[in-house]
Amino acid sequence: MGLIVQKFGGTSVGSPERIMNVATRVIEEKNRGNNVVVVVSAMGKTTDQLVSLAQEISKQPSKREMDMLLTTGEQITISLLAMALHTKGYDAVSFTGWQAGIETEPVFGNARILNIDTNRVNKELEEGKIVVVAGFQGSTIDGEIVTLGRGGSDTTAVALAAALKADKCDIYTDVTGVFTTDPRYIKDARKLSSISYDEMLELANLGAGVLHPRAVEFAKNYQVPLEVRSSMEKESGTIIEEEGRMEENLVVRGVAFEDEITKVTVLGLSNTLKSLSTIFTTLAKHHINVDIIIQSTTNKNTTDVSFSIQSQDIKDTLQVFVDHKEVLQYENIQFEEDLAKVSIVGSGMVSNPGVAATMFEVLAANDIEVKMVSTSEIKVSTVVEEKNMLKAVEALHQAFELARTAVKQ
Ligand code: ASP
Ligand code: MG
Repeated sequence: MGLIVQKFGGTSVGSPERIMNVATRVIEEKNRGNNVVVVVSAMGKTTDQLVSLAQEISKQPSKREMDMLLTTGEQITISLLAMALHTKGYDAVSFTGWQAGIETEPVFGNARILNIDTNRVNKELEEGKIVVVAGFQGSTIDGEIVTLGRGGSDTTAVALAAALKADKCDIYTDVTGVFTTDPRYIKDARKLSSISYDEMLELANLGAGVLHPRAVEFAKNYQVPLEVRSSMEKESGTIIEEEGRMEENLVVRGVAFEDEITKVTVLGLSNTLKSLSTIFTTLAKHHINVDIIIQSTTNKNTTDVSFSIQSQDIKDTLQVFVDHKEVLQYENIQFEEDLAKVSIVGSGMVSNPGVAATMFEVLAANDIEVKMVSTSEIKVSTVVEEKNMLKAVEALHQAFELARTAVKQ
């Protein structure tokens, strides 16, 4: 007998009918002879609604009370799913994060899981029950209830799978798997049969919303086999596993994109050892997330530095520079809005030189100017004008033969 952890996201449990459908999927797995642990998110847009509700009471609610509020969303789903399983004649029990033994660090709003005491879950499984666990929550050693950051139910599922030494963790969602690019915008996008942990991590960090980056990190560290699949359709999804076991050997496996990027350029920065660290520490202190950074030394005494941020942060960024002009020591600051980031990801890049060159050639051939570049071993990101974003994605998707027609299924 195996042990399977299944996770169902907000849309998949968005209504009573959907919850009954989830119960059916859970029972199918149980009837295959497996023990089943089910992790669920809050129903539909419940978490967003709870956030708005809090905003109506207070502009700056206490983080502790926010977590107290948000964890109720998942608590609704676990009880309803357990009831649904009961009506279908199956023995099931629901647990909050705390009851499932999920211990976290003492950080409200974005805690990491430190340890899982699996005793209680194991005991129920041994008695033949289906165990339903609330995603996105845990408790600290002092008994405080915390959340794991938005989208954190994926992490609950993977962490439980690792702690219980499950055979597999299935993430059921509203898409049928991980695609070569976003099928809502690019019609040739194709579902991947498999992808490596590292590639998935890059894609998740680049904003491919299917999986929470921390969940992928966890799965990689504990070698938990993952599958992303649809809760409505029966077809198989995308397996996320270690590189090497995968069937398809593509150099580039996905094209990711994100709009609303702004490039900021700081001119005439005094060229001391500490000037860069001062700038980025100051921005970090103000919770401004900086992505790509480019420094060019213009002369001995001063230097220019450019960096990209999300457009929503531009006001705050400029304010930080105005407020700290004396400490930051620069002459001028400029910015360019309406930009986008287009990235290619693939483990094959490590052993295939020239992938970045091909990317630049393709963009140039399509009259697309590259404003910034950053690379990792398995990723190349470029910043382009927002109006060129989809054109760039389409051209790259084609050039790297990711389209449905180009690859044998
Ligand atoms: N309900 C939480 C959220 O909406 C956690 C999750 O769904 O993963 O962020
Ligand atoms: Mg999610």
